[in-house]
Order: sequence, then C-alpha cells, then structure tokens
Amino acid sequence: MTKITEYIKNSEKTLFSFEILPPLKGESIQQLFKAIEPLMEIKPKFIDVTYHREEYVYKKRENGLLERQRIKKRPGTVGICAAIMNYFKIDAVPHIICGGFSKEETENALIDLQFLGIDNVLVLRGDAIKSEGTFIPEPNGHAYASELLEQVVKMNTGKYLEDGLQASATNFCIGVAGYPEKHFEAPNLNTDLKYLKLKQDLGADYIVTQMFFDNQKYFDFVAKCREIGITIPIIPGLKPITTKKQLTVLPSIFHIDMPDTLVKSIEKCKTNDEVKQVGIEWGIQQSKELMFAGVPVLHYYSMSKSDAVKQIAEALF
Ligand code: FAD
Repeated sequence: MTKITEYIKNSEKTLFSFEILPPLKGESIQQLFKAIEPLMEIKPKFIDVTYHREEYVYKKRENGLLERQRIKKRPGTVGICAAIMNYFKIDAVPHIICGGFSKEETENALIDLQFLGIDNVLVLRGDAIKSEGTFIPEPNGHAYASELLEQVVKMNTGKYLEDGLQASATNFCIGVAGYPEKHFEAPNLNTDLKYLKLKQDLGADYIVTQMFFDNQKYFDFVAKCREIGITIPIIPGLKPITTKKQLTVLPSIFHIDMPDTLVKSIEKCKTNDEVKQVGIEWGIQQSKELMFAGVPVLHYYSMSKSDAVKQIAEALF
C-alpha cells in the first residue's frame, strides 16, 4: 500500500483523512462500515484506527467485596485495519502504543502488520491506565514513543530483537503525535518540542496533531517546530463539536483550550442539534483557513460518527 508521505508528496492539494475507533467489544463490524461508508464518497486517502489498551473495572461480588477485572473494551485494531483495507480498498493506519506491550509483543504485532501489507503506523506512548494515574511501561516495554519508534526504525533496517536473526526489513512509514497546546505532562512547550524533534531525528516521517479549535495555536506550533529544525509534514487533527457536554469533557481529556467565541456560541444553544450545527460551522471555517494555508492533510477525529465530519468535508473537498 502507499505511504502517507508519498500521498503528501504526490499531491498539490490538501488531502482528506479521518480516524475511527475499533467497535466496542460485541458490536459488529457492519456498524463501523456503515459509519465509514458516507465518508468514502469524499475520497479519503487513509483511515487511522486507534488502539485502546486494557483497563481495570471493579465488579461487586455476591459477598459484597469488589473484584478487580482487567478488560479491553475495544479490541481488534489490527483486525479492523485488515477488514477496512479489504472492504474499502483504502490504506488503514493502525495506532501502536507502548502501554501494555513488551518489546517482543510489539515486534510480533509489527510482523502481523507487515504480513497484512500495512505500510503506515502511528507510533504513540499511550496514556496511563485510568486507575493508575501515571504511565507505567511494561517490564521490557517502552517508556516513550521515541523508544517504540526506534524499534520500528530498526525493523525497517532488518534488525529484530534476536541478535543475528536473518530477518526481512519492514517498510513502515512512521507517524508520531504532536501537541500544539503542549502535552499535559511536559513542563513547557519547548521541552515537549525538544522530544518531538527527537522523534523526527530518530526517524519519524510525519506528525499528526492533537485536536485544537484555534488555528492560531496550530500556526504558532508549526512555526516553532520549523524554528528548531522539525521539517517533516505536520498534519492538523480536527474534531467537530457535537454536544454541549464536550465543552468540559474535551478540555479535561485532551488538555486543550476552547476559544471564547466558540464557547459562547455553544452556550447559547438550546439543543444538541443546534450545538452540532455550530460545531460544523466552526469546523468548516477552521478547515477552510487551514486549507488556504496549504496544510498537507485535514485529518478528522470522527469517533466513528460520520455525519458532522461529512458535512464539514463536503464543504471543502
Ligand atoms: P511521547 O512522545 O512519549 O511523550 C509523552 C510525554 O513525555 C510528553 O510530555 C513528552 O514531552 C515527554 N517525553 C517524550 N520523550 C521523552 C524522553 N525521551 N524523556 C523524557 N520525556 C519525554 N492514545 C492511545 O492510547 N491510543 C491511540 O490510538 C491514540 N491515538 C492518538 C493519536 C493522536 C494524533 C494523538 C495526538 C494522541 C493519541 N493518543 C492515543 C494519546 C497519546 O497516547 C497520549 O497523548 C500520550 O499521553 C502521549 O503519547 P505520545 O506518543 O505523544 O508520547
């Protein structure tokens, strides 16, 4: 399949892509296909598939005691990628994370991806398990995305974990995450950018940003990246607001700021249908300005819901 960087290199126009979540355990893949289908009309170049690590839930036993259970609510990133590629004939980009994986498990997952003909991966650290608060790497796993990236880069040169193994080189194009409003754990933006630069220096091919609602944040971020020698493409990630609750939920989960005008417009809405219209209008204006500025790709966080993303993308592509 085609590398994201090749798509970018070979296009004079801004491209369209989006991210989906694997279905919740028990949901059918048909539901996901139905959500993707309307967006296929807008000819996305690739679809990202998120990875969701295990979490702990507490179930009350008959004796009243709580039992801790380890569950994975959204299994199947690799399988979903294969299914999407097979059904829609489009590149799927799996997200791979450090959390929950030893180096060997990562290697085996990458071998599976290579067998499936997947040539793109988005390499991430992943967040802490909800109940744990801080990120704890697996024994013999990776603590930072940059370490995981190094493993992928080594496999791209035929170096696997086993010394001297005569192994075929993988051919992954590697994306990494960037944070226009800084990663929440970083003491300041400059420190965060230093580590972003490290990811480029170790072999990252492109960056996808965390969602933002104020384009100026993205433009300033790109300018700072360029100043310190980050030259790889920086793909903006956009999320249409669809509910009033997201006014507080998104900043608390993603550590981002919402512009005053957007907040005020949403606060005035009486129903979530009205909120959705405001979110779509905001998304269109944001996207238009970014497209005008020549961004390589407009990448939407669809959360596996196509309607708002479709209305925004239709106004642009
Ligand atoms: P890193 O690059 O490792 O950075 C983490 C923190 O450590 C930062 O504060 C950084 O400044 C610092 N740091 C980095 N390297 C070093 C170093 N060598 N020494 C000291 N400090 C360092 N999460 C999921 O679980 N699944 C997903 O599918 C997923 N998809 C995402 C897609 C995008 C586009 C984005 C932006 C995020 C996504 N996330 C996902 C969330 C991501 O996993 C979290 O934001 C996580 O907390 C950080 O991941 P990272 O890859 O940016 O980490």
